[in-house]
Amino acid sequence: LSIMAQGIPDEIMMDGVLIEDLADVAKDAALLQGVLMRTQESSNLSELVTYAPFTLFPTPVPKAVFLQSLAVQTHYNTLVDKISQDPDFLQEALASTIEVDDFTARLFRIHQQILKEGRSITLGLNRSDYMLDQEEDGSSSLKQIEINTIAASFGGLASRTPDVHRQVLKVAGKLEESQRILDNNPAEGLARAVAKAWELYGSERAAVMFLVEESQRNIFDQRCVESELWKRNIPTIRKRFDDVSRTGSLDQDKKLFVDGHEVAVVYFRNGYMPQNYISEQTWDARLLMERSLAVKCPDISTHLAGTKKVQQVLARPGVLERFFPDQPRVVEQIRATFTGLYTLDVGPEGDKTVAMALAAPDRFVLKPQREGGGNNIYGSEICRVLQGANGNTDRAAYILMDKIRPAAVQNYLLRRDSPLKISNCLSELGVFGTYVRHGKDVVMNECAGHLLRTKSSEHSDGGVAAGVAVLDNPLLV
Ligand code: ADP
Ligand code: MG
Repeated sequence: LSIMAQGIPDEIMMDGVLIEDLADVAKDAALLQGVLMRTQESSNLSELVTYAPFTLFPTPVPKAVFLQSLAVQTHYNTLVDKISQDPDFLQEALASTIEVDDFTARLFRIHQQILKEGRSITLGLNRSDYMLDQEEDGSSSLKQIEINTIAASFGGLASRTPDVHRQVLKVAGKLEESQRILDNNPAEGLARAVAKAWELYGSERAAVMFLVEESQRNIFDQRCVESELWKRNIPTIRKRFDDVSRTGSLDQDKKLFVDGHEVAVVYFRNGYMPQNYISEQTWDARLLMERSLAVKCPDISTHLAGTKKVQQVLARPGVLERFFPDQPRVVEQIRATFTGLYTLDVGPEGDKTVAMALAAPDRFVLKPQREGGGNNIYGSEICRVLQGANGNTDRAAYILMDKIRPAAVQNYLLRRDSPLKISNCLSELGVFGTYVRHGKDVVMNECAGHLLRTKSSEHSDGGVAAGVAVLDNPLLV
C-alpha cells in the first residue's frame, strides 16, 4: 500500500463544503489550544493574535522511520556534546570557513577567548531535522537536513497541535485515524532539562533568562516552555541583547546579573543570525554572558558544533569514529541518517565538488553558514555562485549537499488571510533532544518529542518563522 493510500481519502480531500467546515473547526481548535502567534502588524503586543499556520490534516509518516528518528536522538545529543568539548576538532573543521565567513569567524573568536575559562554545567536543547528521501522501490529513508543547536523553536506550539488534528479527524468521521496521532510534549521535555541545569546552578532566586528577539511574533512558543518552568517554581525573565548591554554585569564570582536579577540559565532564542548583532555592544553582551557563571544554552562551542560546515566534516570517513571510538553501532546509526555532503574548500576535492554541482545543479543544495531559513541556494543560482567563486577561497563559506527528495502529499495549509486551496506538500520531521552535563558526568540525555513541519512543494527552502512551512503532526502508518 502506498503512503498516500493510507492518508486522508480523496472523498474527504475533494469535498469542498466539508473542507471549509473542517478549516473553521481547525482554526478555532488551534486558538483554543494555544497554537498562537502574534501578528506581523503588532509583533510586540498580545492585544491581537492569530493562529500559528498549520496543516488541516496530519501527514502520513512510516512508523519504522519515525521510530528510527527518535532512537538516534540521544546519540546525536552525545555527538554534539563531544564536539563542543573538542576545540582541536572545531578549529580544524572551521579553519577554511572562518577565513571567509565573518559571522562564523566572530563566533569562533569568542570561543577562543573563553576557552581557558572552563564551565561546569552544560545544557543542550537541540533539534535534529530530517526529510524522508523517496527510494526507487517506494520506501523512504530518514536523511538529516541539519541539526539546530541554538534557538530550535516550535517545541512549545508542537505540544498543542495534536488535539487540533484529533478533533479535525473526528469531525471528518475518522475516529480510528484520530487515535493514531501521537501525544507530544516537547515543552515539558525542554523545561525538564532547563530545570535540571537550574537546580545544578543551585540558587532559588536565580532566574532562567530567555534571550529574545526585538520582534517577538513567536512569543507563545516560548511561553509554553516558560509556563512549564513556572509550574516547577522556577522564575523566568525575558530580556533582549540591549537589556544585557545596558544592565548586565558580572560580580566577583562571575555571577551574571541582568536588570537586578541573578541569571542561572541563559536560554538563547536569538543570536543565531548576523542581523541579530546590530552593534559592537551586542557582541560585547554575548561575550559577557559567555564569560559568566550562568549556564548558557547553548554555550559558544555548542553553537559552533551546529554549523553546516561541522555537519559536512562529520560525514567524512573516520570522523564519527573519532567521537565514538568503541561504538561501531552508534556510528552506524548516526551515519545511516547522513546524505551526501561535500567540501568546497580550495583544493582538488573542492574542485571535484564544484564540477559535480555544475554538471547537475538540481541534484544539490548549496548552503552557507546561516540559520533561520531562506539562505540556501538552489538550481541555476548554484552555478552562478560557484562560477563566480571558482578557484578562490570564497566558496569555502558554503557546503554542498545532496538534495533530499521526499514524496509529495496533498494537504491544505491554513495560514491567516490565505485562500483555502489544496497543495502538493513536502514535510520535514524534527526531533528534540535534551542533555545536561555536570563536569564530566552526563546527568540527563533524552529525546524530548518531535515537530513535523510541512510546506508547499513550490518552495525549495523551509521554515515556519520564515513564512514557508506550517505546523503539522505525523499520522503513523
Ligand atoms: P536553516 O538553518 O536555514 O533552517 P536548513 O538546512 O534547515 O537551514 O535548510 C532550510 C530548508 O531548506 C529546510 O527546511 C528544507 O526545506 C530545505 N533543505 C535544506 N537542505 C535540504 C536538502 N538537502 N534537500 C532538500 N531540501 C533541503
Ligand atoms: Mg532548518
